[in-house]
Amino acid sequence: MNAVPPAFPTSETPAGESEPAAETAKPFLDELFAEGVLIPSGVDGLYGRSGAFEDVIDRFEVLIERLAHEDGAVKIHFPPAMPRVNMEKSGYLKSFPQLAGSIHSFVGGDADHCRLLAAIAEGADWSTFQQATDLVLTPAACYPLYPTVAAKGAVPEKGLLFDLKSYCFRHEPSKEPTRMQFFRMRENVCIGSPEQVKEFRERWLERGPKLVRLLELPCTLDVANDPFFGRGGKLMARNQRDQQLKFELLIPVNSVEEPTACLSFNYHQDHFGTLWQMSRENGEVAHSACVGFGLERIALALFRQHGTDVEAWPKSVRKVLWG
Ligand code: AMP
Ligand code: ZN
Repeated sequence: MNAVPPAFPTSETPAGESEPAAETAKPFLDELFAEGVLIPSGVDGLYGRSGAFEDVIDRFEVLIERLAHEDGAVKIHFPPAMPRVNMEKSGYLKSFPQLAGSIHSFVGGDADHCRLLAAIAEGADWSTFQQATDLVLTPAACYPLYPTVAAKGAVPEKGLLFDLKSYCFRHEPSKEPTRMQFFRMRENVCIGSPEQVKEFRERWLERGPKLVRLLELPCTLDVANDPFFGRGGKLMARNQRDQQLKFELLIPVNSVEEPTACLSFNYHQDHFGTLWQMSRENGEVAHSACVGFGLERIALALFRQHGTDVEAWPKSVRKVLWG
């Protein structure tokens, strides 16, 4: 028997044994704060993480890394910022201006500094003393990759595989613990022929859910779309769905009714290949696909399902993570 009953039914849970805790429990975020799993900062979506939370993420990453290593993926970790020019060229500001964040800094002299301090003392807007730097915040772990691949010349015929990780920023403050402004994404990316990248995505579509079920988390796969901005965005979202370019693996965290996307499986076709002029040795434009694990969301799903005390998690789950 489990020490803590799972919050949501899994295929292993006998009927009637678990309770959907969403209606009974106080908001999950409050529980995470009270238990010290997340530490509030005063701003929604910006939290400290406990040692236990980080340990769960570290252990989960070992599982991903094992698969990526078997595939022969090249591991690269970019910092959580990228060149401003690359974000401009990527089209991110066209599709997701509402989510983008950029880095500004003070560049004035002594007189400006005095004015800056005076503005702060008066409680006035001091952001006018800041200027945009060359950097923006990374919105997805794979964004810094494409220009670096393009700079290295033709994509070899056997294709390229990468295992990436980055803290990402998205300006979407929320009380839902699963919607953070700073979170980590572990991504595997394939760049090559259409067949290679489709096969890559199929492989992860199979083993992503397998991995999550090993952790005794209920999950379902579904077609999805990105939150494209504005009226024009609606058409892009519909197109993405119609062509099944994005799938998500959904796990109940905040509620059973609205499970949370914890993994994404994206086929970009030749979008990034064309944009960054990534061509294959045979001269054709390279296709790409990425599979993104939302590391905080996976950890939150585990804490939600098995309880905030990792010592009390089912032995079988602990064995998968800690061996
Ligand atoms: P996306 O590029 O939107 O498909 O995101 C990749 C993965 O990152 C998603 O499947 C989520 O697991 C995770 N993710 C996206 N947005 C957030 C967020 N605001 N907070 C935490 N995790 C997120
Ligand atoms: Zn990606």
